[in-house]
Amino acid sequence: MKLWTPDRVYFEPTAKNTAVGQRVLDYCKSKSIPILQTTSHNQVRDLPGKDEKEKYASAKKTLVVGTKRSMKFDVCKPSAHYQFSLMTNCPGSCEYCYLFSTQGKKPYVRVYVNLDDIFDTVEKHIEKRLPHATMFEAASTGDPLAVEHITGTLKDTIQHFGTLDKGRLRVVTKYANVDALLNVKHNGHTRFRFSINSEYVTKNFEHNVHSLDARFKAANKVGEAGFPLGFIIAPIMIHENWREEYKELLEKLYEALPSKRNSTITFELIQHRFTMNAKNVIEERFPNTKLEMNPEERTKKWGKYGRTKYVYPKEDINEVKGYIEGLIKKLFSRSHIQYFT
Ligand code: SF4
Repeated sequence: MKLWTPDRVYFEPTAKNTAVGQRVLDYCKSKSIPILQTTSHNQVRDLPGKDEKEKYASAKKTLVVGTKRSMKFDVCKPSAHYQFSLMTNCPGSCEYCYLFSTQGKKPYVRVYVNLDDIFDTVEKHIEKRLPHATMFEAASTGDPLAVEHITGTLKDTIQHFGTLDKGRLRVVTKYANVDALLNVKHNGHTRFRFSINSEYVTKNFEHNVHSLDARFKAANKVGEAGFPLGFIIAPIMIHENWREEYKELLEKLYEALPSKRNSTITFELIQHRFTMNAKNVIEERFPNTKLEMNPEERTKKWGKYGRTKYVYPKEDINEVKGYIEGLIKKLFSRSHIQYFT
């Protein structure tokens, strides 16, 4: 799969006067991509398309380069202490994407140029928790590797965290273009995780992301480059043949990591969940989706900001948890399962 190329790129007023802005500008020129101006990302309206589906497709081909204004880092349980954004949204189009709950109305891809402000805020948060190390998640509002060939900001960030004695970074991706990151001085401070799933889930619901095989190969490269390595299996779905398919997934992963399978890789396990808001957006954007989102077959759970999420009934999900954790422990005896949620 080719790396993402936007059809149009909007710059907020001062974005071009930054190192990252210049990189994006050079990229646009090299690809002859139309460069447009906007006062703010909120003003990016009237994207081409006669209906919601077409407008969504246009937004997914639109990049907005701007400044991250809010420097308020949210808490990021259970994977890290805090989260920050190098970008928001994603060129991928996974039908189950968690961003439908929060970014449903603005699906264009945004990247941020003010890395110095972000790094300053990171350091302030680290100071508050000294002498303990502080963990930051950089991929909770999008997939930064998906736009790394345009911005280079993930590389800058990994490098920066390599210099921070008490700062640790976590990234997760469904992309495989890791080559430019392999020689970065990460100092073991960035845990690189790959999001993986059963064949049924990847085939039916993941679009415009790299194949599972490509992710496996990238994971092996990242592991060999000395990065702490991890995998997120998410969203775990109870579908026909789920037992066989999750077993096959973990066996393939084992085969793909000849030198890393016995190291302390981490696993994070997240069951499928949805909000009613996300369900409505998904059904509008993917009218033929096979995603199972029947609230009557699920259990209600209160989420962040008072949102109600629908998860699998306890009895069913406990069976899945026991089964998948058992497979992981058998195949990856030195791994650490960090949580199942
Ligand atoms: Fe969403 Fe991740 Fe898929 Fe991008 S890769 S669309 S962020 S689930």
